[in-house]
Formats: sequence, structure tokens, C-alpha cells
Amino acid sequence: MDATPILIVGGGPVGLALAGDLGWRGVRCLLVEQSDGSIYQPRQDLVGIRTMEFCRRWGLVPAVEASPYPRDVPQDNVYVTSLTGYELGREQFPSMGADRPPSVSPQKRERCPQNMFDPILRAFAASHPAVELRYRTRLISVSQDSDGITAEVEDGRGGRSPIRACYIAGCDGGRSVVRETLGIAMSGNPALTHTTNVIFRCPHLLLLHDKGEAYRFIIIGPEGTWATIVAINGRDQWRFSIIRGPQERELGTDEIHAAIRRAVGVDVDYEILSVVPWVRRELVADRYRNGRGFVLGDAAHMMSPTGGFGMNTGIGDAVDLSWKLAAVEEGWGGPDLLDSFEAERRPVGMRNVAEASRNLRRMLSPQPDPALFDDSAAGARERERFGRAFADAMRHEWFTLGMHLGYRYAESPICWPDGSAAPPDDPKTYVPTARPGHRAPHAWLADGRSTLDLFGHSFVLLGLSADAADVRPLTEAAARRGVPMRFIPLDAPDLLTLYERRLVLVRPDGHVAWRGDTAPADPLAVIDCVRGASRRGAGRTATGVSSQALATSA
Ligand SMILES: Cc1cc2nc3c(=O)[nH]c(=O)nc-3n(C[C@H](O)[C@H](O)[C@H](O)COP(=O)(O)OP(=O)(O)OC[C@H]3O[C@@H](n4cnc5c(N)ncnc54)[C@H](O)[C@@H]3O)c2cc1C
Repeated sequence: MDATPILIVGGGPVGLALAGDLGWRGVRCLLVEQSDGSIYQPRQDLVGIRTMEFCRRWGLVPAVEASPYPRDVPQDNVYVTSLTGYELGREQFPSMGADRPPSVSPQKRERCPQNMFDPILRAFAASHPAVELRYRTRLISVSQDSDGITAEVEDGRGGRSPIRACYIAGCDGGRSVVRETLGIAMSGNPALTHTTNVIFRCPHLLLLHDKGEAYRFIIIGPEGTWATIVAINGRDQWRFSIIRGPQERELGTDEIHAAIRRAVGVDVDYEILSVVPWVRRELVADRYRNGRGFVLGDAAHMMSPTGGFGMNTGIGDAVDLSWKLAAVEEGWGGPDLLDSFEAERRPVGMRNVAEASRNLRRMLSPQPDPALFDDSAAGARERERFGRAFADAMRHEWFTLGMHLGYRYAESPICWPDGSAAPPDDPKTYVPTARPGHRAPHAWLADGRSTLDLFGHSFVLLGLSADAADVRPLTEAAARRGVPMRFIPLDAPDLLTLYERRLVLVRPDGHVAWRGDTAPADPLAVIDCVRGASRRGAGRTATGVSSQALATSA
């Protein structure tokens, strides 16, 4: 029987990110994916700023920047009655090549559609000897016992075989078999809209209208926003989304052609490449863990794409779970460490799903006055009024630094609160803070690196003009518990101002676990807390079975 410490189900962006991060940590895992990995119709295209920070950690920024999405296409969002109709408003954004990172990050968000981004993650995962990727392999069922899980998988020829693992990570998307077999329900709204996505090729589309190159056109009719057109490769392919209400109704071919004609405003030649009807949902799994099974990505949360949070939230899940699985596998993770995955990530899932729905409501809600479509002075005034109001509302969706960088692990059992007040969790604004539970902030170091470049492989104890006597108790406590920790002294007054304490303990995922100006009164208690071993008693190390035990049982 095949045996692996960690079985990952699903080779979408989230499963690949989990496999890649585990492999990067040297932890063995096996990923099974039912398809051959080709993308029939790309969904995500916004790689958020936090995901780009992870890509930086993994050395993938050059690959993302070199992806075929053109770097010179302005990323404007344009509000129109049709491509050849009235322009009601526009939010201008530079092209990827011209854009620059904000001061709070060494990276910026990128446009890298799924058919370009998944292969980057796949190559990254495959580059680690600890990772095995098995395509055309479908999970059929899972059962678990006190020692591990047994999965039944089916290969491309219909042959079935069992795989034994310590843990199973369900990255198998919205219809997750893992979630179902773990008995985890989802709560929320199962149908916000029924939408039809049509990818069509039309090399001369830009020549037909005067709106110029842009990332997205939002099309407004008498009924309000009814469709969007997105430049998916920046040149000749477009994703046309026809948005309908919550009642199910598939569109016929004639209706699709009529809708394209209406959105463009004139007759046009084009070739339809694919049509995918899909349901926009607002759902979060009631639990993220059941025993030895976890759900993450779309298996754990399904949200409207308005905001581009779905994959980015899922990759955040993968980064959170990965170091915890590694800690348990390496023997220094405590018995409560894996439970902290749900405590930390489920509230983020709820938050992001809710904001995505708010964005959807903002996009769909305005009902234009019929005068908006009149070729008259009154029509021009209405277009001006509507355009300004709509642009104001849509800015919530376009400016989301707070969403991507400001999430925090407020209820985390493995962060040691320091009593300081949290900055507001505002979707738009990110306030850098090194408060426990938050992303350790970025600052440039004298040698040209970012603080973020210091984090990743182990815990890092930052010493910002700290006394050596205050450092030792923590490094010794970490050594006693076998917790990998690097002490990095930095004599940088600006950094002390930003991080606010002389000692800051940063976790392998880049979140702050503890901070103080002097050594904690009980350093072992702090180390046991941050490795998830405080509630059920210090001194215990790994949960579950080791891969060695598994190999024996297999
Ligand atoms: C129109 C649209 C635009 C979007 N834009 C963005 C965006 O710009 N930014 C963003 O962050 N998000 C965006 N999203 C959301 C994003 O696409 C998803 O959140 C993301 O793809 C989820 O990744 P995942 O790996 O969790 O799941 P998936 O991408 O669904 O991957 C799941 C994988 O599991 C495999 N699988 C399923 N069952 C099994 C099984 N039994 N055995 C083996 N394999 C299995 C599937 O074949 C699939 O490859 C968008 C979504 C839509 C619909």
C-alpha cells in the first residue's frame, strides 16, 4: 500500500501551494488530482499582494512577472452602457509593468490568470524531491482511524488502490469529496447569482470601440449591471460574464450571441472558445478540521469573485496549515497546533466571503434612471451623476490592501496577546503592526532585503536593540522543546518604531507570535503556547503517528 505523511487532494492553486510549501520545508507529501492539470477555462487572474509575498518567499516572483499576460495593458475598470455606447466612469490603474509596490510591501498585486499561475505553482511543487504529484488520480473515499487515514483512489484506467496517510488535506474545490466524507457542512447562501462565463476570441475587439485597452468593462443596462467583459490574456481573448439572479437558468446559444451583441453594441465577428455556467455562492465550512482531515481553499469557503479573494484566501489557508503539519511531522508541534488552523483561518474565510458579497451587492445594486440612456442634456447629467456614484461604490472593490494584508488571527490559541489595541480591520486600509496575530510588517533593511525575507523556514526572534540577557531565555526554551528558531539582531531604530518592542517572535508563516521588551517571565510557557502545546500540558511533542510508523503499518 502507498503511504505518505500528508495526502493532498486537488491540484488547483491551493493544493499546489500546499504541496509546494510543504516540499519547500522538506516535508513529504503526495498530491492527487483527477484531471491532467489543463485549465479548461481560467477563473482567477488577480494574484493578491500577500500571495505575491509568498511567491517572493518561494522564489516565484520572476516566473509570475515573466508569465505571458502582457505587462503593458492598463488595468482600468470601465463602466459603460456597451463597449460602443456611453462611458459612465472609469477607475484608472497602471499596467503591471508600470505599477509599483506600495510602501507597506516589497511586492505588488499581479495579473496572472489561472492558466498561467497554476503551471508556476505546479513547477514549484514538482521541483521539491519531497513532493509527488499524481495527475489523473481521483479520490473516491476516505476513512480514518486513530492512527491515520485510508484513501481509495482511482487512476485514469479505472484501477483502484488505497493510500495510507497521517493527514488528508482537502483542496478539492467546491464539490469537495474530502469535506463530504469528513461530514463537514457549509453554512451561508448557496446561490447568490447564476452566471454564464463565455470565453470568446476577438482580435479586433479593441478596434471597434473608443474605450481603449482596459482590464474590465462593467456593462450597465436599464436593469442595472448585467454583464462584465474581462481581458483574460490582454490581447484577443475575453471573458464575458452574463449575470443573472439566484434562480437557476442556463442560457441557450442564441441568448449568448444576443448578449455579446448587446454588450459590444454593434455586430462583431468572434469565436466562442468555451461556455461555463456557474453559481456564485456565499458559503463557509462549519469546521475546517475533523480528526486527521482538513479542508482549505474552495473546499472550505466559496465566495463571489468580486474582489478577487477566493484563491488568495485559499493560499493563505495553505501557508497557515503547511508549517503546522511540518511541525507535527518534525515532532516539535504540540497537540493543539493543528486545531489552531481552524481558529485562525475560519474567521478569515468568514470575513472575506462577507466582503466579497458586499462587493457584489455594490456592483449589482444601482438601478439607473431611464434618462441615463437618452442622447440629451438630461441624459448627460444623469450619466455624470450615475458614473460618479457608481465609481465611488466600486472603489471598495478596487482598493483592498486591508483585505489582503490586514487579516489577523485575533482568536488564535497559539499567539500570545500583549494587551495592545488592534487597529481597525478596514477592507481598504492596512495599518502595519507587529501586534501578536498580525502579519509581521515589511520594512527595507540596510542590505536591500525586506524584513519579510527573514521569515519562512523557522521561528525568527528579531532582536531590535535587545539585551543579550533577554534573548537567551527564549532561545534556550525553544531549544529545550526542539522548536527551530533563529535569532536575528538588527540595530535599526526605524524598525523598533515599526515593531514597537525590542523582541519580536515571528512564526514560520510570517505572523507575529509574541513580542516584548524583555524576556517573558515564563519563556517555556511562551514557547509551548506558540507551538500549540500549552493547553494539554507542556512537554508533549508531536501528535499522531510518524511517517515511520505509517510505513510499518502499510
Ligand atoms: C470567474 C471567476 C473569477 C475568479 N477570479 C479570482 C481572482 O481574480 N482571484 C482569486 O483569488 N480568486 C478568484 N476566483 C476564485 C478562484 O478561482 C478559486 O477560489 C480557486 O480556484 C480555488 O482554488 P482551489 O485550489 O481551492 O480549488 P479549485 O481551483 O476548484 O481546484 C480543485 C481541484 O481539485 C480537483 N479535484 C476535485 N475533486 C477531486 C477528487 N475527488 N480527486 C482528485 N482531485 C479532485 C479538481 O479537478 C481541481 O483541479 C475566481 C472565480 C471565478 C469563478
